[in-house]
Amino acid sequence: MTYFSLNKQAPDTTFKDAVIKGLAPDKGLYFPKHITALPKSFFENIDDLSYTEIAFEAIRQFVSPDIPEAILKDIIQDTLNFNFPVVELDKNISTLELFHGPTMAFKDVGARFMARCLGYFNANNTNEVTVLVATSGDTGGAVANGFLGVKGVNVVILYPSGKVSDIQEKQLTTLGQNITALEVDGVFDDCQDMVKRAFLDEELTNKMQLTSANSINVARWLPQLFYFMFAYKQLHNSYDDIVFSIPSGNFGNICAGMMAQQLGLPIKHFVASNNANNVVTTYLNTETYKPKPSVQTISNAMDVGNPSNFIRIQEIYKNDFSKLKENLSSFSFTDDATRLALKEIYETYNYIADPHGAVGYLGCKSYLKNHPDAHCVFLETAHPTKFLDVVEDVIKTTVDLPPQIKAIMHKEKVATSISNYTDLKEFLLK
Ligand SMILES: *Cc1c(COP(=O)(O)O)cnc(C)c1O
Repeated sequence: MTYFSLNKQAPDTTFKDAVIKGLAPDKGLYFPKHITALPKSFFENIDDLSYTEIAFEAIRQFVSPDIPEAILKDIIQDTLNFNFPVVELDKNISTLELFHGPTMAFKDVGARFMARCLGYFNANNTNEVTVLVATSGDTGGAVANGFLGVKGVNVVILYPSGKVSDIQEKQLTTLGQNITALEVDGVFDDCQDMVKRAFLDEELTNKMQLTSANSINVARWLPQLFYFMFAYKQLHNSYDDIVFSIPSGNFGNICAGMMAQQLGLPIKHFVASNNANNVVTTYLNTETYKPKPSVQTISNAMDVGNPSNFIRIQEIYKNDFSKLKENLSSFSFTDDATRLALKEIYETYNYIADPHGAVGYLGCKSYLKNHPDAHCVFLETAHPTKFLDVVEDVIKTTVDLPPQIKAIMHKEKVATSISNYTDLKEFLLK
C-alpha cells in the first residue's frame, strides 16, 4: 500500500516508512492511496471465518508488501489474544466490550499491533527506535504493555504527575525492561507540548529515530477497524440495520469504523458521541469546524479540543459535507447526563458501564428517537474499574477488580521526575 500525506507537501511512502515516521515530514497524517473493497462473499460467509481470519483479510492490503503474509498472520494471532463480546441489552441496544485486553482499554489492540509491526521492521536493525508518547491516562498503559519486551524499541512515556488514576499510574510505571515513565510536573498539555517539541528538535532527531504511538500512526489506527467486523459477525443474523455509537476523543476509533465501511461492511450509520468537548457535534450542526481548548470531564479520555483524526474523516468523504451528514450524526452530553446514564444502564439492564461507554449509550438513545427500528451498538472502550471513583459513587455498589488490575496493584512504581523540556532532552540524549 502506498500512503500519502494529507498535507500533500511530502512524498508518498510505504506502510513501513509511515509506521516508523508516525507523521509525514510535512506534519500531515498518512492516508492509504487506494482502498479496495472486500468481495461480497467475505461478508456473506463471515460466520465461517475466525476473528483472526477476518482481521487478516481486512488489514492485508494496508500492510502489503512490507509484511509477508505468514508474519502478518502471526502478528494478528498475537495481537488478538482476548475476546470482543457483544452484550445485547435489548432489541435496540447492544454494547461491544473492547476492554478485555491486558490494560482493559480498547487501545490495547492498536498498541499491540503497532508494537509487533515495529518489532518486525526493526528486527535486523542496529539502530533502536524510541517511541515517545504523552498520555492523559489510557494510552500510556496500552502502549507500555503492547511494546513491553519488543526488541530494538524503547518506549518513553510522559504523564502528568497526580493527574492520572492510581490504576493508570501503576500500568505505566511498574513494567520496567524497555519501558520508561517520566512523571511530569505539569498537566497533560505540558507533556504533549514537550513531545511535539522533541519531534521538531533536529539535534535530537539527527541522533535518534523518534516515533509516536498515538492514533495518528497508521499501525495503531487501522487495526481498530476489526472491532466493527467482529460486532457485525455477532449481530448480523439478528438485526438488519446496524448503527455504531462511538465515544470519541481524537476520532481514531470512529474513523477506523468508517474504513471498515469502505471495505464493504454493511453499517447503516455512525454516531459520534461526545462529552462537553463537542467540536464535531458543533461542526455537523453549523458546518463550521472550530477547535477549542479542551475541558475536563468524567470521561477524560475524550477531553480533546481538536481531534487529530477528523482530517482523515474529511478525506474519506472527500470533504463533501452532505455525504458526511448522511452517514454520521453527533451528540454531546454533560457529565450530569453521563452519571444518570450510568445509573439507568445499571438499574434497567443490570449492566455496569464506564463513563465513556455511558456517553456512547446516550448517543444510541438520541439516534434511536428518530430511527426506532435500528439496532445501535455502543462501544465500551474501557472497563468500569478504570474509573472506579465515578462508577461506584453513581451506582452505589462496589465493583470487583479484574485479575489484570489486581496483579499490578502491589507492584512498585518506578518513574523519573522531570519538569521541563531541558530535562526531557537530557534524558533522551544520555
Ligand atoms: C482513547 C479513548 C477514547 C477515544 O478514542 P478516540 O479514538 O481517540 O476517539 C474513548 N474511550 C476511552 C476509554 C479511551 O481510552
